[in-house]
Amino acid sequence: MMLASELALAGIDIVVLERRPSQDLLGSRAGGLQSRAIELLDQRGIADRFLAEGKIAQAASFASVVLDISDFPTRHPYALGLWQNHIERILAGWVRDLNVRIEYSHDVMAFAQDDSGVQVELTDGRSMRADYLVGCDGGRSLIRVFAGIDFPGWEATVSNLIAEVEVTEETPKGVRHDATGIHGLQVMEDGRTVRIVTTERQLGPATEPTLDDLKQALMSVYGTDFGVHHPTLISRFTDSTRQAAAYRDRRVLLAGDSAHVHSPAGGQGLTLGFQDAVNLGWKLAQVVRRTSPDRLLDTYHAERHPAGRRMLRYTMAQTAMMRPDDHVEALRETVAQLCRMDGPRRLLGGLVSGLDTHYDLGEGHPQLGRRMPDLDIRLDGGLVRVFSLMHDARPLLVNLGEPGAIDIAGWSDRVKLVDGRFDGVWEMPVMGAVATPGAVLVRPDGHVAWVGEGTLTGLDDALTRWFGAALPN
Ligand SMILES: Cc1cc2nc3c(=O)[nH]c(=O)nc-3n(C[C@H](O)[C@H](O)[C@H](O)COP(=O)(O)OP(=O)(O)OC[C@H]3O[C@@H](n4cnc5c(N)ncnc54)[C@H](O)[C@@H]3O)c2cc1C
Repeated sequence: MMLASELALAGIDIVVLERRPSQDLLGSRAGGLQSRAIELLDQRGIADRFLAEGKIAQAASFASVVLDISDFPTRHPYALGLWQNHIERILAGWVRDLNVRIEYSHDVMAFAQDDSGVQVELTDGRSMRADYLVGCDGGRSLIRVFAGIDFPGWEATVSNLIAEVEVTEETPKGVRHDATGIHGLQVMEDGRTVRIVTTERQLGPATEPTLDDLKQALMSVYGTDFGVHHPTLISRFTDSTRQAAAYRDRRVLLAGDSAHVHSPAGGQGLTLGFQDAVNLGWKLAQVVRRTSPDRLLDTYHAERHPAGRRMLRYTMAQTAMMRPDDHVEALRETVAQLCRMDGPRRLLGGLVSGLDTHYDLGEGHPQLGRRMPDLDIRLDGGLVRVFSLMHDARPLLVNLGEPGAIDIAGWSDRVKLVDGRFDGVWEMPVMGAVATPGAVLVRPDGHVAWVGEGTLTGLDDALTRWFGAALPN
C-alpha cells in the first residue's frame, strides 16, 4: 500500500491485487514503526493519522539496552507503538483517498513477462496485463519464486509461538527469561484477548501450530496453560534470515518481506518495507512515464539490497544476543556496558531507527545519499518545514544561497525549486553538526542526490541521472 500510494501520487495507473477477502488482518502482527518510517509518512503529510492512534516510545534496543534516541535531530526521535492491523487500516484509508484500486480476493497464481509487459494470472482464471509487476506478497512470495530469484540466507535456529487467545485464568505481567528463551503475555486493548509470544523448546516444524501445541508450550514454561481458548491467531515465527539475491528481474521487482525475511526481534519488518517502497515508487513512476531510462530501476537493488543486508545482520546479532546461554549472557552484559556509552548508543540508535540509512551516491558532502532533515527554512517571509514541500512526492531543489542563482529550466516540469534561508545548525543523526550546504537536491524518497557547496558543479548531471534528460529550450 505504501508503494501504491507513491505511484498514485506520481499519477501512475496501478492496481493492488490482494488475496485476502478484505483489509481485515488475522492477528495484530507487527507492533509498530521505527523513527524513519514515521518520517516517511511525515514527508507525505500523513504521520499524524498514525501518531494519533499509537503510543510513542523509546523502542530501539540492543543487548537488552534501550537505545534512547530522544536527542536525535528529527521531529520523531522515537518509535511508534501501533499494531499492524491498525497501521494497515490507516494506510488503506490513505490509498483510498488517492483513488488506488485494491482488488480483494484476487489471488495471483502465476505470471509471464516479455519485452513489453507482464501477464498476471489469477487463481479464478482471470488475467491482467501490466507494464511492471512488484511482488509485495510477503516472505513466501510466489512472485519471487516464479521469477526464479534465489533467496539465500540462514535457516532458523529458534522458533516462537505467537497467539491471540482468550483465557480463563489471570496471566502474569511482563517478560520471563528462562533456559528456553523469552516468553511474554500481554492483555490487548479489548481487555479480553491475550497476546502470547513464547519460545519453543525445540525448533518447531514448518506446519501451522495448533491450540494443543500452544497449551503444551505454556505448561512447560508457566506450569499452566491459563485455560487458553477461542484463538483468533496461532502462528509460529522463527529467526530464519534470508534476502532475495536480486530485487529485480527485468519487469518484475520485489519489495518488503518478499525481498527479505528476518527475526521480528528489533521490530524492523515494516520500516524496511516502507523504505523499499518509497525508494522504488518514484523510480518506477519515472520509468513507466519514460522520463527516465529503464536502468534507473537497477539503482533500486543497488541501494536497497545493501541497506536490507545491514539490517538483517543487526537482527541476527540481536537474536544471537538473546540466546539463553551463560556465555551469551556474559557477552550481553559486556556489550550492554558499551551500549550505555554515547558513541555506541548513537551508532546503533541510528541503525535501528533507520535514520542513518545511507545510499552510496559517491564522494562528497556527508549529506549526500542520506535523508534530508526536516528543517525549518525561511521562505517568502515565513518558516516552512522542508517535509511540507515533499507531500506531492516530487523532486525538490532547495537553494539556500543567493535567491534566483539557480536555473533548472530544463527540469522545471519535474523538479520543484525553492529559494529559502536556513539560519540554524545543520545536524545529522550519528554524525552531529555538518557544514550547511548552499543547495540540496532531494529525491522524492527524501534522500539527498546532490549537494551544492558554493558552486553548481555536478547539478545538471545529478538532475539528468535521477530525473531524466532536460527538456529542450
Ligand atoms: C510476530 C511478528 C511480530 C512482528 N513484529 C514486527 C514489529 O514490531 N515491527 C515491524 O516492523 N515488523 C514486525 N513484524 C514483521 C511484519 O509483520 C512484516 O515485516 C510485514 O508484514 C511485511 O509486510 P509486507 O507488506 O512486505 O508483507 P505481508 O504483510 O506479508 O503482506 C503480503 C500480502 O500479500 C498477500 N499475498 C500473498 N500472496 C499473494 C498472492 N499470490 N496473490 C495475492 N495476494 C497475495 C497477503 O495476503 C498479504 O496481505 C513482525 C512479524 C511477526 C510475525
